[in-house]
Amino acid sequence: MRLSRSIVGREEASAVARVICEDGYLGMGAETREFEARLAEYLGVEPWQIVSCNSGTAALHLAVWAASAHPLRRIPESAAMPEILVPTLTFVSSFQAILAGGCKPVACDVLPETGTLDLEDAARRLTGNTIAVMHVDYASNPWHLDAVYAFGASNGLRVIDDAAHAFGCRHHGRKVGSFGDLVCFSFDGIKNITCGEGGCLVAFDRESASIAADARLLGVEGDTARRFAGGRSWQPKVERPGLRYHLSNIMAAIGNVQLSRLEDEFIPARRELYNAYVRLLRPERGLKLLETDPEDYIVPHIMPVRILDGKKEKVIERLAAAGIPTGIHYKPNHLHPLFGNGREKLANAERLYAELVTLPLHPGLDESDVQLVCSALDEALA
Ligand SMILES: *Cc1c(COP(=O)(O)O)cnc(C)c1O
Repeated sequence: MRLSRSIVGREEASAVARVICEDGYLGMGAETREFEARLAEYLGVEPWQIVSCNSGTAALHLAVWAASAHPLRRIPESAAMPEILVPTLTFVSSFQAILAGGCKPVACDVLPETGTLDLEDAARRLTGNTIAVMHVDYASNPWHLDAVYAFGASNGLRVIDDAAHAFGCRHHGRKVGSFGDLVCFSFDGIKNITCGEGGCLVAFDRESASIAADARLLGVEGDTARRFAGGRSWQPKVERPGLRYHLSNIMAAIGNVQLSRLEDEFIPARRELYNAYVRLLRPERGLKLLETDPEDYIVPHIMPVRILDGKKEKVIERLAAAGIPTGIHYKPNHLHPLFGNGREKLANAERLYAELVTLPLHPGLDESDVQLVCSALDEALA
């Protein structure tokens, strides 16, 4: 059994073979343009709003650049670094993208029930230098996303949604990525859809979209339109910083096939496995599921559960002995030497870290696998 894995096969392989053998142009071109158009259609946004790139981390980095190019409030000229509020319980990617974007990640605590940003804790960490708040849809949970946008609006902050776990999810009826300010998805190998590696930013203002679109192509102004028309910029104009973050035709070809499998195959498979876990896990044995809002539609990327009474390590060991791999999402970032070395205590996140164990979940599993995991867990807790 695997904890997570890419669900790719012949269809993806032949799409890649087509790019290599027939098109012969491997860089950013027609496949990438089509992937962006199909993402826009899926999310119900305009094509200019989609900026595909070669990882979710790149999308977050571009979002940080866009937010700091156009903050909604003035920060003092003397400010050492603009600050971005971010929940500590996230992939290290969120923190590194903020740092790479020239900003300081300000680690915030999370809610014990969901592992998502604690807005009251975030409010206490606001300073004159805060330019944005980053939300993380932890375990595909768009929990309180409306409240996060309201918090951003009332404090003059840009809002970045790290929706790497949340492709296909809905918040109160609306798809994640169909509303907001700067929404970032990851299409790495194990996310709800994959490009092999890839990601995208969904921007809701033209200025941010155009900054990000140029920045993914070394800051060359308008290069996206030229590449999508099969051309190049031989007389480039460069006014802003940029990196090589564009998505190649090869990766986009994989993404195009994955998008066509999402609604009928991946979403039902992930939701059914999640529902099987909810049915078969036994909280009375000393575990707890993370909460979700019944009005949200969750397409689970990972299956973390809280193991109570200090039994986490024992459970991990016993499951491993039964041939069941587990994961930990995540070591809180404020514990890393680069981000504070645990000098400050973020109590809820640290307690969750001591409890959370991620169980196997990916569309390659079926209900009998979930049964196996749940009975092994039962024995481990007995
Ligand atoms: C996967 C992930 C990312 C980064 O995506 P990559 O495509 O791997 O760069 C960022 N944030 C979270 C929460 C993730 O799970």
